[in-house]
Amino acid sequence: MRRIAILTSGGDAPGMNSAIRALTRKAIHEGFEVFGIERGYLGIMEEQFIPLSNRSVGGIITQGGTMLKTARFPEFQNEDIQRKAYDILKAHGINHLIVIGGDGSMRGATSLAELGMSTMTIPCTIDNDMGGTQYTIGFDTALNTVVDAVGRIRDTSNSHERVAIVEVMGRKSGHIALKAGLACGAEIVLVPENPMPLHEVCRHLKETQIRGKEYSVILVAEGAYNSGEVKSYIKKHTEFDPSLTVLGYLQRGGGPSAFDAILAARMSETCIDLLMNGTDNRLLGYIDGHIRPISYQEAELLDFPINEKDYTLLSILSS
Ligand code: ATP
Repeated sequence: MRRIAILTSGGDAPGMNSAIRALTRKAIHEGFEVFGIERGYLGIMEEQFIPLSNRSVGGIITQGGTMLKTARFPEFQNEDIQRKAYDILKAHGINHLIVIGGDGSMRGATSLAELGMSTMTIPCTIDNDMGGTQYTIGFDTALNTVVDAVGRIRDTSNSHERVAIVEVMGRKSGHIALKAGLACGAEIVLVPENPMPLHEVCRHLKETQIRGKEYSVILVAEGAYNSGEVKSYIKKHTEFDPSLTVLGYLQRGGGPSAFDAILAARMSETCIDLLMNGTDNRLLGYIDGHIRPISYQEAELLDFPINEKDYTLLSILSS
């Protein structure tokens, strides 16, 4: 019987469990034997292989996090370690490795593919910062979490007529900040791709006050500025004394939205179908509403940056 192994790697994201469940059940349905590898690439080296069955993945579809645990294992960039991992996978009789994670995790899969391993990558990170796909599983859930949290902060900022700074995740990308800003009506969004200078932020806040707005919400993507420095700068250069909330890991937790859980199910189905048809070493991309197999090389080149039009729209709507 042909063997599939599944691992989750990098930051956890809502929908990882949905993908583990769907991959396992679809693969078993098609006659594969399925193993989970705990703690990402580290788990290959430590031979943490566990058999997965329809029952062992029961009850996880709506749970956040990953039942397979995840790890950051930077040593996996070392070619000797990659070769050892390849040997371990072969020794366990693994025919195909399915990696669930972000762009770093996909690079790990790429290096194993270059050694001859058959791999697939399911894009799963809250940051939505991967090449080759317009959408990563987990982004929609994180966005909804941010919008909910900012709504609550906005209520209290309104009552106290204060400026509220909210730091959101996204690593070097402004996808979460910009989309959340549009969804919750933030006055200012600071993204790493095009960070507004802080003196402009101060000017904007003063104008907002003159226009009669009693409070403002500023979303700071973690990759744009140190949010503590934004707070200090505003305090020093204006009469405002902003509050600061760092949403942090709150954004990574929680069960997946319906959109993320359904996308995980559909990508998993496509992944197994592709493997059965002899296509491997692909990222499952979500492009213009369709799931498409994208070669790792193409994924590295196919960038989907933040939409500048969203930024302009946000400025118009926050007036
Ligand atoms: P997220 O951005 O959501 O945290 P990610 O998959 O991008 O997800 P990383 O920490 O960048 O997270 O990568 C996860 C793991 O993938 C690393 O700990 C490492 O084991 C492996 N990895 C990352 N980059 C490479 C690379 N260039 N070559 C081989 N393996 C890599």
